[in-house]
Amino acid sequence: MTAEVINGQELASNLREKMKQEVAALNNNKIFPKLTVILIGDDPASQSYVKGKHKACNEAGIISEIIRKDASISEAELLAEIDCLNNDETVHGILVQLPIPKHIDEQKVIEAIDPKKDVDGFHPINVGKMMTGQETFLPCTPHGILQMIQSKQIETEGKYAVVIGRSNIVGKPVGQLLLNENATVTYCHSRTNNMKDITKQADILIVAVGKEHVIDASYVKEGAVVIDVGVNRTKEGTLTGDVDFEDVKQVASYITPVPKGVGPMTITMLLRNTIEAAKRIEQ
Ligand code: NAP
Repeated sequence: MTAEVINGQELASNLREKMKQEVAALNNNKIFPKLTVILIGDDPASQSYVKGKHKACNEAGIISEIIRKDASISEAELLAEIDCLNNDETVHGILVQLPIPKHIDEQKVIEAIDPKKDVDGFHPINVGKMMTGQETFLPCTPHGILQMIQSKQIETEGKYAVVIGRSNIVGKPVGQLLLNENATVTYCHSRTNNMKDITKQADILIVAVGKEHVIDASYVKEGAVVIDVGVNRTKEGTLTGDVDFEDVKQVASYITPVPKGVGPMTITMLLRNTIEAAKRIEQ
């Protein structure tokens, strides 16, 4: 078997084209969706992610503002900046690029963002709504993954989904979204015993570990759908996933590549949430 590749870049570009038209229609009604990103310090990965988000916003017609702060910013100053954006009627979405410097309490920052402008979907109110199946801002990477699965009409109901990774931003919420879609979900993590015995049973395997090629074909059931969330830089400086693509492709039915997989869909779901925020606030 050779797996069909789910091309995240292609799907993202189709969705973004539709969003562009949606934004143009909102503009005709004098609604101008705007995303403000706070970028702290000079971490190269964060700079690159923020640049990607800015470019995608511009292309979709969403107003994008980047507020750059020195890594020495105090927690109080950052919270005051967020408060200001919460009260700014022209701003619909607020995102603080993570990670932030260690002297600032990340959870406090997440909770300071008005849940109505929390386009990352990290605020506990939005997390709670997602858990209870209410309409809310879904976290971007898990939402993008779900869209990729659904774009191929892959059945989730009654399927056994295994998620490797239990972070608050990827692992836990993607498992929750699959549960909401009636899959039976198991989480694996660094303390899981006999992980291969579990992953070998998965109809849908989501890998969000952050370690180059930790998953090869020996972890995968014949015909499984494999979604690779990992982004790792190789010794040669290129990007690669957590899944050994060439090996796993031989046994899976569908597989996502890295790059051009989950990454472009994450940004696309951020655009989606920003448009939704503008609609909810303005209409
Ligand atoms: P994270 O917070 O570091 O979480 C990694 C998870 O993997 C943890 O739950 C950890 O277990 C588990 N783990 C580590 N080693 C393991 C092993 N050998 N076997 C099984 N589980 C293991 O990372 P994250 O933020 O979820 O991100 C995961 C990856 O996705 C990273 O490469 C990140 O760059 C990438 N990512 C990509 C996108 C995108 O848009 N493409 C978005 C977000 C993240 P413990 O909990 O026990 O420590």
